Amino acid sequence: GGRSYSFMLRTKNPCGKVPNKLYLTMDDLADQFGIGTLRLTTRQTFQLHGVVKKDLKTVMSSIIHSMGSTLGACGDLNRNVLAPPAPLAKKDYLFAQQTAEDIAALLTPQSGFYYDMWVDGEKFMTAEAPEVVKARNDNSHGTNFPDSPEPIYGTQFLPRKFKIAVTVPGDNSVDILTNDIGVVVVSDENGEPQGFNIYVGGGMGRTHRMESTFPRLADPLGYVPKEDILYAIKAIVVTQRENGRRDDRRYSRMKYLIDSWGIEKFRDVVEQYYGKKFEQFRELPEWEFKSHLGWHEQGDGALFCGLHVDNGRVGGKMKTTLREVIEKYNLDVRITANQNIVLCGIKKAWKRPITTTLAQAGLLQPKYVDPLNLTAMACPAFPLCPLAITEAERGIPDILKRVRAVFEKVGLKYNESVVIRVTGCPNGCARPYMAELGLVGDGPNSYQIWLGGAPNQTVLARTFLNKVKVQDLENVFEPLFYHWKRRRQSKESFGDFTNRVVSYYSIPYF
Ligand code: SF4
Repeated sequence: GGRSYSFMLRTKNPCGKVPNKLYLTMDDLADQFGIGTLRLTTRQTFQLHGVVKKDLKTVMSSIIHSMGSTLGACGDLNRNVLAPPAPLAKKDYLFAQQTAEDIAALLTPQSGFYYDMWVDGEKFMTAEAPEVVKARNDNSHGTNFPDSPEPIYGTQFLPRKFKIAVTVPGDNSVDILTNDIGVVVVSDENGEPQGFNIYVGGGMGRTHRMESTFPRLADPLGYVPKEDILYAIKAIVVTQRENGRRDDRRYSRMKYLIDSWGIEKFRDVVEQYYGKKFEQFRELPEWEFKSHLGWHEQGDGALFCGLHVDNGRVGGKMKTTLREVIEKYNLDVRITANQNIVLCGIKKAWKRPITTTLAQAGLLQPKYVDPLNLTAMACPAFPLCPLAITEAERGIPDILKRVRAVFEKVGLKYNESVVIRVTGCPNGCARPYMAELGLVGDGPNSYQIWLGGAPNQTVLARTFLNKVKVQDLENVFEPLFYHWKRRRQSKESFGDFTNRVVSYYSIPYF
């Protein structure tokens, strides 16, 4: 049938920015050429499932004509660059978002092939900033292939996909430590951005039963003044291009290079390409998970409203209601790294009618959404992902209900929550190794259970049990939540609690 020959198509949207026209186009394309739903991804992009080959060109050219792109959305090169989605009129947020866009432009493949293929060679890129072009082509540190059309990627591109996120201190809405490169704006006491702290070597993917593959948190690399950021990024990317393993894809992410070299050697090599020393990493405040949900002031007179979307799947009543509001008020939107959507630039006078429309469709929080759902994520898995071993997106609604039922049984209150993430295989697209309770498909209807991540996504979880059948999950959940309820220290999160007690604790499971 046609379904087995259909394509999954991903857009590229640095910072999750989606102009009004692109949203409306994606909404149309989902109906005309897809499966009637839109999916928001954990990398702040759209995925369109079910596009058949004969329609690909029409779909791609519609996206490109609506100021969107799919260029660099997959393959062994830089993926969508994350940044906090909040449209706040604050210097650090704006600077983080601008930097994400500059990095995305810096690392965009340069060959004309993409446009030749999808829009018959018409160029639809906006003019590139001269600093970006200069940084890409600057050959002074020997990082370039001046004769290649790809001055950063060369002819070989990268050993594997590459992920970058940019944020501001304290806002960990982007899971900063799970990226190959994490960039944090550092401002002076007047709030004026001065430079960036850089983390390197995060990554989630692993392979079951191979201890030599593992999820990893990024390490601090150093600080660079703001005018050097693109040069520093380029030096890191080129270090991975030249030294990342190409003999085995399971070990080809940059985290394995850093793990085998150690951060000191890695820094030395990057500095040779960068042509300078990194400065001392600046002190940062604690990270917080910011959902950007609900109504907020933008700081420029307008409002924004973040809406929760279960697993990023926009369909049915939600899809028609979102379209109605976005079209009527000509709103731009942003996709969050937690697969939610932010409606931007709402005039104060529109708040009431929009609230009414959203409420009628059941889209307003927190009244209608269990707190467990607000932080939960699942990857697409069956039937859409060829790597899936078991259910994730289709299974998580029931799993969350069962967790809530266990909460009630052991006497945990309604407002208690735990970060739960479920994936259909160890590749870890929904970042389950950062969850307080991670379920990673390891067989038909079975999951490996991970515990110990933190509510602010700064601690790596650990494997707790293997091969737990989906029907047996209560046997695992109940003793854990029971003891958390009874033995937790004041306000202790579930992740912190399990880290404190689970290693010496033994619970009779089956
Ligand atoms: Fe597919 Fe695995 Fe990623 Fe889920 S985690 S989307 S199953 S590759």
